Amino acid sequence: SFHKSKGQHILKNPLLVDSIVQKSGLKPTDVVLEIGPGTGNLTKKLLEAAKKVIAVEIDPRMVLELQRRFQGTAHSNRLTVIQGDVLRTELPYFDICVANIPYQISSPLTFKLLNHQPVFRAAIIMFQREFAMRLVAQPDDKLYCRLTVNTQLHARVFHLLKVGRNNFRPPPKVDSSVVRIEPRKPRIEVKQKEWDGFLRICFNRKNKTLGSIFRQKSVISLLEKNYRTVQALELGQKEADTKMDFASFGEDQGIEMDDNEADDDEMEVEDGEADDVQSVQSEFKDKVLGVLKDGDFEEKRSSKLTLQEFLYLLSLFNKAGIHFS
Ligand code: SAM
Repeated sequence: SFHKSKGQHILKNPLLVDSIVQKSGLKPTDVVLEIGPGTGNLTKKLLEAAKKVIAVEIDPRMVLELQRRFQGTAHSNRLTVIQGDVLRTELPYFDICVANIPYQISSPLTFKLLNHQPVFRAAIIMFQREFAMRLVAQPDDKLYCRLTVNTQLHARVFHLLKVGRNNFRPPPKVDSSVVRIEPRKPRIEVKQKEWDGFLRICFNRKNKTLGSIFRQKSVISLLEKNYRTVQALELGQKEADTKMDFASFGEDQGIEMDDNEADDDEMEVEDGEADDVQSVQSEFKDKVLGVLKDGDFEEKRSSKLTLQEFLYLLSLFNKAGIHFS
């Protein structure tokens, strides 16, 4: 009796198991991280092809079954089983990850792996078909989305195998696909919050032009708020630097702080200054749209932008002092 909540659909087709192992390009020297080994059908083949297998399994009954299955075999000393939730487990060193996981953890597992150090060679993972197609999508594909761009920022992803639901016992409700995820070396470094905030806005309406997305009032006011915060921080930093100089001459450091707080209060009184606020807004809006125009992005749509174009556009915004976090 298997737990549906743990996504325990066991791979029954031995040809498929062979094919997954073969496509993972294992070397006899590899350390393999297997996630969700279940009863060990895949584990057995991995042990035959690699130096060592470390398997993370959440279900204690499965862990027992796995240990029983390999006890006293020639492989047993090359298998380590860790009982636990892979999302809460500190991952050991590995060269290749092979995983047939419950589909609820697809996203968090993918991002956990993409942030894992040291960088591994590849992860071969069974996903729900649609999730897999999102990972491998290219600009202008129907499933091209924020997940696609976020994943491809850190990895190249290839579709390996289509797997029909009847290869599993019990069969799940959806078809699956096996993909190969190869982390980029070197990593593309971005400020994570900045990148995330930027993509959320761009994919808020992926089929609209960037021009119309960045004209939205809510977007402009968010960006303007960030802009002011950054400016205030930079100003504060300059003042702090200056104060450091004064401080050495024994100046009082409290006074300027009070001035700043007074400014903040005034900004919230919008009535008398509505006109001012309006003009500042449109000035800022022009700044934002200017970046789009100069970069020739105004008429483009997120559904068709490449990763490089997203990176370039974010750098243009940042250069203009426009921030997303
Ligand atoms: N790999 C086996 C096979 O191909 O026959 C079983 C795959 S089954 C789809 C998923 C396995 O992952 C189950 O054994 C389940 O107990 C385990 N599992 C579910 N959630 C997990 C988690 N968060 N961490 C580790 N293992 C998990």
